[in-house]
Amino acid sequence: MSRPKKLPLYIDGRPQKAISGKSFGNFNPATGAKLSEVEQAGRRDVEKAVQAARKGFQEWSALPGIERGRVLKKAASILRERRMELAEIEVRDAGKPIAETPEADIDSGADAFEFFGGIAADIKGSHHDLGSDAFAYTRREPLGICAGIGAWNYPMQIACWKTAPALAAGNAMIFKPSEQTPTNAVKLAEILTEAGLPKGVFNVLHGRGETGQFIATHPDIDKISFTGSVPTGRKVLADAAASVKHVTMELGGKSPLIVFEDSQIHNAVSAAMNANFYTQGEICSNGTRVYVHEDIHDAFVAILKSRAEAMVIGDPMDQGTHVGPLINADHFEKVMEYVRLGIEEGAHLVSGGEKIAVEGCEKGSFMSPAIFTACQDDMRICREEIFGPVMSIMSFRDEEEVVNRANDTEFGLAAGVFTQNLARAHRVVGKLRAGTCWINNYNLTPVGVPFGGYKQSGIGRENAAVALDHFTQLKSVYVELGDVECGY
Ligand code: NDP
Repeated sequence: MSRPKKLPLYIDGRPQKAISGKSFGNFNPATGAKLSEVEQAGRRDVEKAVQAARKGFQEWSALPGIERGRVLKKAASILRERRMELAEIEVRDAGKPIAETPEADIDSGADAFEFFGGIAADIKGSHHDLGSDAFAYTRREPLGICAGIGAWNYPMQIACWKTAPALAAGNAMIFKPSEQTPTNAVKLAEILTEAGLPKGVFNVLHGRGETGQFIATHPDIDKISFTGSVPTGRKVLADAAASVKHVTMELGGKSPLIVFEDSQIHNAVSAAMNANFYTQGEICSNGTRVYVHEDIHDAFVAILKSRAEAMVIGDPMDQGTHVGPLINADHFEKVMEYVRLGIEEGAHLVSGGEKIAVEGCEKGSFMSPAIFTACQDDMRICREEIFGPVMSIMSFRDEEEVVNRANDTEFGLAAGVFTQNLARAHRVVGKLRAGTCWINNYNLTPVGVPFGGYKQSGIGRENAAVALDHFTQLKSVYVELGDVECGY
């Protein structure tokens, strides 16, 4: 497959060079090969995209929802037709295994366009009866120009989860992918144009944090939907505050997965592995604090260890690979530092946590999935987001104790509970302070179910019809049918 030598910005319905004159390299995390030289958007490029988006918004927002929906559904079908090509691009950019990517990244993105395409014609306000002489109604109107800023772990999925509801509601979108994974945002722009999206409605600006800051501080951008870490999220929130923008924040986590003694143990182990090792552990909602009831702790660890050690670490382009490289060498060092820290803090490393050499991918930063037992709640490996394949296991004795320990974190993105006791499952979920909870599974995010965080893990929700609330504003209209009363 041919790859672009230069990866352009995408503004006003076409690829464009950056006015800034700057660019940066994009590299394959597995091989170190240079994938492209990426045009870097400066302040004037942001301005140009804002102007294009403002014009695009006027045309797009004037269309009936059914017509907007038709374009989005067409984009969904192109995404599905091209799923393998797009999945391979995602693997080259992000290092995630090809065994996961067509479904987890591309299909998930297509689902978003199909879902929001389907409900674009049903965006509506409400009617309020005020007696015989008056009534009121509300209109649900688009915000205008929305900006998306994405993380590198699920580049296409993040772009689609933000763009589909924004466009369904009649907004224009400016999207900045992570500098590490810029390619598929441009592919998405091409696909949307092919699907019939008017020019200027979806624009792509590449760049580093500085470009993100130009976007977050731009006074004519009406909303920022951000996915990234809590520290960057705080900065973006502060920048957005200057012009009182709408915000959605999808931030980090340190989520608990609670395994009670009556759990189906093989399912619980499967979920713990998915919750820690899928996409090399580079997933925001991962259940990295695994609380296992003391009665089944040893059996759980024994099964987990043997299954984790059978995982295939290798070239992410091989169908048989379960664990690809971490996104880059700096991130790898950060994750390995946590492995060293865990040992220093007194946790017991029962498996993995080692650098692995992969033939043909000598420049990649691969590690074996790490499992710590004998962890304590106050250890840094149990409190801080690591964003790599590092699982911390703690044992517990009773329900109230484990709920309190699970909630003792500044994060609140997700949580999981394994038990055969339905009453207990729902009772515990009711007490967990997390935006998404799973009972007897983990990390499934169907498009029809809202996703987002409590506490410092975020503001707002993505997916499901409720996402439209975050891309629209309500206008209330009072209608007088009688005379105007006036005491003067
Ligand atoms: P970062 O917070 O480092 O970056 C996120 C995005 O923000 C990138 O596009 C980045 O650009 C950009 N950025 C950096 N600085 C600024 C700034 N000052 N103003 C505006 N934009 C800026 O996150 P990562 O990319 O490292 O992603 C990992 C994090 O994302 C984890 O914490 C993870 O939990 C979280 N995440 C949350 C999800 C959720 O749905 N809750 C889903 C996926 C990830 P650049 O990349 O060029 O530096």
